[in-house]
Order: sequence, then structure tokens, then C-alpha cells
Amino acid sequence: MFGVTYTPAEEGFRAELRAWLEANLPRASAPEDEAEQRRFRHAWQRALAEGGWVGIQWPRAHGGRGASLREQIIFTEEMARARAPEILDPVSVNIVGPTLIRFGTPAQQARWLPPIRPADQVWCLGFSEPNAGSDLASLRCRARRDGDHWVVSGQKVWSSKAHFADWCLLLVRTGPEAPKHEGISCLVVDMRTPGITWRPLVQLSGRSEFNQLFFEDVRVPAENVVGAVNGGWPIIRAALAHERGTLWAFDFKVRLQNGSRALADLYRRCRERGRADLAAFRPRVAQAWIEAEVFGAHTLRILSWRWRSRAPTRSSGATRAPSTPGRGRRHTSTRARSPSRRAPRRCCATCSRSRPSACRAPAEGGVPWQRESSTATRT
Ligand SMILES: Cc1cc2nc3c(=O)[nH]c(=O)nc-3n(C[C@H](O)[C@H](O)[C@H](O)COP(=O)(O)OP(=O)(O)OC[C@H]3O[C@@H](n4cnc5c(N)ncnc54)[C@H](O)[C@@H]3O)c2cc1C
Repeated sequence: MFGVTYTPAEEGFRAELRAWLEANLPRASAPEDEAEQRRFRHAWQRALAEGGWVGIQWPRAHGGRGASLREQIIFTEEMARARAPEILDPVSVNIVGPTLIRFGTPAQQARWLPPIRPADQVWCLGFSEPNAGSDLASLRCRARRDGDHWVVSGQKVWSSKAHFADWCLLLVRTGPEAPKHEGISCLVVDMRTPGITWRPLVQLSGRSEFNQLFFEDVRVPAENVVGAVNGGWPIIRAALAHERGTLWAFDFKVRLQNGSRALADLYRRCRERGRADLAAFRPRVAQAWIEAEVFGAHTLRILSWRWRSRAPTRSSGATRAPSTPGRGRRHTSTRARSPSRRAPRRCCATCSRSRPSACRAPAEGGVPWQRESSTATRT
């Protein structure tokens, strides 16, 4: 009905992906059993990585394709269209990797990035705490310096995959005297370090994908700090911007449209077979179709907002969910506008502080000077 017009090069990208999926998409669906499902998803992620289809938004220097936002949209739509299974570790590909690429040292990048794309090492996020969820800056898990180590004590909650993760991207309080946004650091913790325990949170479904994580005097080498000590807040905001990207909407759009078309086909087949009691369903089938198309139109609207508000920069995957579109424009970077205007360097339009580490704006818009974002998958 309506859509983005892609360039021939972008259509070539789509054709390449379709051909690869045609040849490589698993014929079987993911097994139910958790351990088997993990092996299945690992094998799928490894195959995608070998084909160059994991972390397409990563720079080429780190094994990605340096994909533009439009290419990421094509990728997301094609994967949904093909009903491709989930990969094992989207958290690392979409949150940890881009965070290390932006804030990690070359040594950290060389050590931790290569195993991420094929899921040879899995990560969890140690962000949320029992009293620090939405208000993440209230986190209390602390780390004190002891020689060339940090010693971590405290608790985290909702940590997806912590029960089989190799590494944890952990937020800790290292500056207890500082204002709460300025005393946070970001550590990489080896999950096999003595003093780490976890307790699964069992869901109603019987599955246990999340965990409470406990740290008792866990020693972490000082070189595992990502970014500056006490400079973790901009890193959190960038990481959460990766989590809350735009691309989920393109996946959801295709899945909704697939569903509404399947429903319409079912209705048509039933009618052809002479079912006379369908009258009551007709408006509901039509309504499902209309709502799927309206959602599809909305994804285009959020894109045009995004492109208008960030015109001179490369496209970014970070935006809000459709229910809060207006907030996206308020949180526009002064740097994202024309550089020739020489606007004073401000953290962002929401908050007039000059230092990013002091920014008090909510994390949802992403770090304004962030260059590129990525696919978004809820952890
Ligand atoms: C599927 C899933 C996977 C997750 N995986 C991870 C993970 O791997 N690692 C991790 O660290 N975290 C993870 N989380 C946690 C998540 O990212 C949030 O931090 C957490 O869900 C929010 O914290 P909370 O549960 O304490 O809710 P709260 O912060 O208590 O919020 C509860 C409700 O109150 C509302 N609320 C809160 N404050 C205000 C306010 N001031 N004004 C108005 N309304 C307010 C919120 O919007 C929400 O609706 C996961 C969450 C989900 C759903």
C-alpha cells in the first residue's frame, strides 16, 4: 500500500539475504526443551555469523557490515518474513557489542568482541536491582578498589541468561559520595569468578529465563572497567538506547501483517466451503487487517520523524515506541543539527548540562552524540 522506496543497492542487499535464507534457514522449528533449544539457537547464530548476517550494524573492522538503518530495516523485515528463529544471544549482539565498540579500549574489544557474533561466549546484563528498575541510577550494588582489583558486593535482578552466561556487563556504584548519576561504573565480570551465585525466577509458564544474581566479595580485575571509573551513566544511556531501538517495530509489523493475512485466508476458505455462520467474524477479520496496515503506516511515520530530527547524521536505530512519538523530538542533540551553527556543546536538548556524565535526562533517547544504533531486542 505504502512503504519506503529502496535504492537498487539496497534491493541487492535484500536479494542477497533472501538467497542466503533460502539456502540456510533451518527446516525444523526450535525444540521446546530448554537445553536443546539453546543448542539449536547457538547453531543458527553460528551459521548466520559465518554468512555475515549477525551484527550487520557493527563496523566492518569488527566483523559487521556497517549496515545503514535502511539496511537494518530490510534485514529485520526479511528475517520476520522468513519466520527465522531467534538467535541465542541478541543481548550481546545488540547491546554489549555496540557498547564495547563505542566505549571499550582496543584491548577490551580484541578480547571480548570476536566470540560475540558466533555466540561462542554469552553475556548477561547486571543492571536492574530490587530497588533500582526504572530508576536505575539508584542502584546500590557496590565495588570498592583493592589494589589492582575491584571487589563487588550486592544483588541484581531480572538478569536474563545469567545461569549460562560467560560474562556479565555489570553496573556498580564506585563513588558512594558522588551524586547518584556520577558514582556509577561499568564492569565486565567473568561469571565463573568465586562469590557469584544466582537463583532462577520461575515464570508461570514453568520456564526460568531470568535470575536473581548475588555478588559476595567478587574480585574483578581493574582493567575490566569499561569507560571511565564513575563515568558509567552515559554508557548506561547508550546501552539502553540500543535496547529500545526502532527495529522491533519492523519485525512486529511483518508478523502482524502475516497474521492478519493468514486470518483473512482462513475466513475466505471457510466461506468458499459454504460456512454460513461467518457474518459475525467479517468485521473482526477486516478490523485485524486494518490495524496491521495502520501499524505498518506508523512505522513509516516514526522513521520520517527520526530522519527529520537527525537529518545531518547517519541514521540511528534509537527511537521510542509508537505510543510516545513526540518525546523523540524533544530529545534531539544540538550536535545532530548543522555543525556550522556552532551550538555550545550541551548534553542534550532535554538537559542543559555540559558534561555527559552529569546528564539527568531519561535514558530513552540514547546518548545524543551516539553515531549509530542497532537492532533492538528486549533482553
Ligand atoms: C523480558 C525482560 C527481560 C529483562 N532482562 C533484564 C536483564 O537481563 N538485565 C537487567 O538488568 N534487567 C532486565 N530486565 C529488567 C528491565 O529492563 C527493567 O529494569 C525492569 O523491568 C524495571 O524495573 P522494575 O521491575 O523494578 O519496575 P519498576 O521500576 O518498579 O516499575 C514498575 C512500574 O512503575 C512505573 N514507574 C516506575 N517509576 C515511575 C515513576 N516515577 N512515575 C510513573 N511510573 C513509574 C514503571 O513504568 C512500571 O510500569 C528485564 C525485563 C524484562 C521485562
